[in-house]
Amino acid sequence: MTIIVFTQKEIIEWQSQYPILKEIIELRPVFWMNPNLTKMDEAISLPLTRKDIEDAELRWQRFAPFLERTFPETSATNGVIESPLKEISQMKNKHLTEMDGKFYLKCDHELPVAGSIKARGGFYEVLQYAEKLAIESGMLRNDEDYEVFLTDRFKSFFNQYSIGVGSTGNLGLSIGIISAKLGFNVSVYMSMDAKQWKKDLLRKNGAEVLEFEGDFSEAIKAGREATVKNPKGYFIDDEDSKHLFLGYSTAALRLEKQLKAKDITVDADHPLFVYLPCGVGGSPGGITFGLKQVLGDHVHCFFAEPTHSPSVLIGLVTGELDNISVQDFGIDNRTEADGLAVGRPSRFATVVSDQLTSGIYTLEDDELYRQLAYLADTEEIYLEPSAAAGLIGPKQIYRYAEENNIKLSHANHIAWATGGSLVPEKDMQMFYNKGKNLK
Ligand SMILES: *Cc1c(COP(=O)(O)O)cnc(C)c1O
Repeated sequence: MTIIVFTQKEIIEWQSQYPILKEIIELRPVFWMNPNLTKMDEAISLPLTRKDIEDAELRWQRFAPFLERTFPETSATNGVIESPLKEISQMKNKHLTEMDGKFYLKCDHELPVAGSIKARGGFYEVLQYAEKLAIESGMLRNDEDYEVFLTDRFKSFFNQYSIGVGSTGNLGLSIGIISAKLGFNVSVYMSMDAKQWKKDLLRKNGAEVLEFEGDFSEAIKAGREATVKNPKGYFIDDEDSKHLFLGYSTAALRLEKQLKAKDITVDADHPLFVYLPCGVGGSPGGITFGLKQVLGDHVHCFFAEPTHSPSVLIGLVTGELDNISVQDFGIDNRTEADGLAVGRPSRFATVVSDQLTSGIYTLEDDELYRQLAYLADTEEIYLEPSAAAGLIGPKQIYRYAEENNIKLSHANHIAWATGGSLVPEKDMQMFYNKGKNLK
């Protein structure tokens, strides 16, 4: 889709219709409450149901024996790719002194193999594609153990097929690793500025990495064209993918169990607030959809975007969803939070988020680094900059709670930490130093 670039006159018209756009265009941090937020039993036109989430979870379970054998780091969880939920009370006591209730971190930076939230969506989409091919070709019987996916017979079958993906980093990393393990030819289309260590790691894992000059959307476009030209090619489209979304949504069933294990209830007296770093909107959208289905209306989900890449925010504020990009408003989409550097939201996810997200806030890159260093100092947990975006969530929601008569005294808050464990030591040290030096 092309960038429109509004004239000054058009921008003034937009701003008079949606006053918050002025602050957004001036790159000021904002907090926006979603006027379209809908109760679960009134939400219409949701493209998926709870049954779809449960089916997706069953698919994960079928693949668990394969995952366990392929990635020994998943053996402790019998091939389930999941992350812990940790209370971060030191962080709360030191940096969120005003806040009531408890503060938790959902540690997706520790997700096995991919080290980011993309292990949910990316892995899931590749697994469902592999399963579909295996069933359609008659190679896989109904009751068969999925350890057959480890065999040379399966690997050479998948070797006829190609998978392509455009990525600034983490998505490519997850898709590249799992696709190559299954035997697919996999090509990851990246922009020139993608991190070198990610390119190296992908190549080491057997993926092809193609680099493109210019904006990341160029890489996606080139990748999509090259992949679909091949009749045995499959393009994983971050800008419009139901499967990525479903992969993310299953996190809700797992979180429900983790909450139970910690005796955390979710009801009117114990509302749950969840803060999700947001790029194209797939991971926060899928997780929000799942949480609303599984836990109901007393879970309140907020997305966090960089001030320079507020793509889902402008899509929802204007109601234009994926028909609009930050560049249309002259916003540059330049942020050091590479997981969130997206100019246009996902079509599939944004239709759902429009009804289910409680709101969105934006924050500056400096704030990400500051929070990253705070968390390291108080909890000894190291995240990549994108993943720190949820940590200021509890400071944002007072007005929302007041207007919606939500009691905060027994609230629980979860910041979703979306990535970081694969970041090389020296890059991480740089992130940390940068945050420490900002006062
Ligand atoms: C991809 C990513 C996100 C955001 O997910 P989207 O589906 O793009 O919204 C957040 N944090 C990290 C570290 C990511 O890699």
